[in-house]
Amino acid sequence: MSESEALIGFGSNLGDRAHLINQALQALSELPQTALTKLSSLYETAPVGYLEQGAFLNGVACIRTALPAAALLKHLLAIEKSLGRKRVERWGPRTVDLDIIFFGDRIINDVDLVVPHPELIRRLFVLEPLNEIVPDWQHPELCESVSVLLNKFQQSHPLEEPCRLLSAPVDDALSKEKVNDGIFYRYSES
Ligand code: AMP
Repeated sequence: MSESEALIGFGSNLGDRAHLINQALQALSELPQTALTKLSSLYETAPVGYLEQGAFLNGVACIRTALPAAALLKHLLAIEKSLGRKRVERWGPRTVDLDIIFFGDRIINDVDLVVPHPELIRRLFVLEPLNEIVPDWQHPELCESVSVLLNKFQQSHPLEEPCRLLSAPVDDALSKEKVNDGIFYRYSES
């Protein structure tokens, strides 16, 4: 079966955020027919919308997978659920959010899955980490690269605060082999 390269956005604003993200990334790297190939740095972002929430930690991961997009989404929802459920009484259910940002050059408009993620061009906390690891990735509908999309966003939102760079991956020479050899604790919140 052919493999696709996909970009997964992740975020957390409850509990031990970095640890939850590490757990989510570990689960992601253990999915069948899937390998984690690249991680962005970790960014801290003020919440939008419900301002009474705590700040988010965000980043993106690049994976290679032979899973179809719909199956990948099911796995992501199961990972979110397993991490949320563990802390449901103490922290509430939304501990980790995982989104499919890009899935190869596929354009998907299903009821429960829209790819490329429709919000990506409006979210600095997605565009900045994407630009760090895949600046030349072409948005298949807009036919523009991530770096151009980030630049356009910055031009049209000159007052928007950039995300705060919190930490680079613990192992910044992260490689596929090392991921599969089990370097699991990747980020620390300093
Ligand atoms: P949220 O928790 O707000 O990110 O919403 C989760 C729901 O969004 C999931 O149940 C998915 O069915 C739907 N969804 C649509 N497109 C995507 C995508 N590209 N990545 C992840 N979830 C998606």
